[in-house]
Amino acid sequence: MQAFTHAACLAHDTGPGHAERPERLRAVLDALERAHPDLDWQQAPRASRGQLLRVHDEALLKTVLDRQPRERVMLDPDTVLSPASAEAALRAAGAGVAAVDAVLSGQARRAFCAVRPPGHHATASAAMGFCLFNNIAVAARHAIDAHGLERVAIADFDVHHGNGTQAIFADDARVRFASSHQWPLYPDSGARSETGCGNVFNAPLPDGTDGAAFLAVWEDELLPFLDAFRPQLVLVSAGFDGHRHDPLAGLQLEAEDYARLTARLVALADRHCDGRLVSMLEGGYELQALAESCVAHVDALRA
Ligand code: ZN
Repeated sequence: MQAFTHAACLAHDTGPGHAERPERLRAVLDALERAHPDLDWQQAPRASRGQLLRVHDEALLKTVLDRQPRERVMLDPDTVLSPASAEAALRAAGAGVAAVDAVLSGQARRAFCAVRPPGHHATASAAMGFCLFNNIAVAARHAIDAHGLERVAIADFDVHHGNGTQAIFADDARVRFASSHQWPLYPDSGARSETGCGNVFNAPLPDGTDGAAFLAVWEDELLPFLDAFRPQLVLVSAGFDGHRHDPLAGLQLEAEDYARLTARLVALADRHCDGRLVSMLEGGYELQALAESCVAHVDALRA
């Protein structure tokens, strides 16, 4: 297994008191270093403009990459662009591209991208919800456009709905998107009735949902939906803000629940695509919970 990160991801400066702060990634890297000292770390390259333009419009690239602010500016009430953010966003998206290359070339069977900013709220045309570019969508389109894949599965277990990912692929039957998320909660999308072109499955969960109910929804509904697709690659939007200690939401998950779901996702990849799976960090805002959950996730990816 390979892991991708870049120091630039630590320099994206969201300002004092922001939940999506550099300490998150620092906590993840420190915990992985302790738990998996032999992990095969790779420097994330920059995504190219062409790779980003498969998903995003020129106007968003101009905003994120060319504006080069001298101080922090708000792109929406939650989303900050700092002087160092363009480089972080390029490395975060580039991590997914490189991870897809590594897994599809057989260099590694699985990969984890420890990056920020996160991605799954970013739409084709807008940064939002702490996200500048949609890293997982850029990775999926790279698998399709550069490697010729026809069926890419995206499993999103972040506590928030991956509205950007859903919107980007709502009319694209080459991608299946399965998401569990607390509902109602930001960004207020992700109802069961949102099914894309038959390629989207949303499982909204009530506040207070515990690990048993969370895993049951994946076992009974989301995993069978992805299984029936026979994916050639499994991508994971790995957000750990469903942890019971997370301050942004109310699910009651423990680190072990993430390990259990990850093992099921690995089994899905084993059944259909020689285990090929790329996971990308999304949310998770309580440092200890985030670090423990990430280690549990990587434990299961390496098992
Ligand atoms: Zn989230």
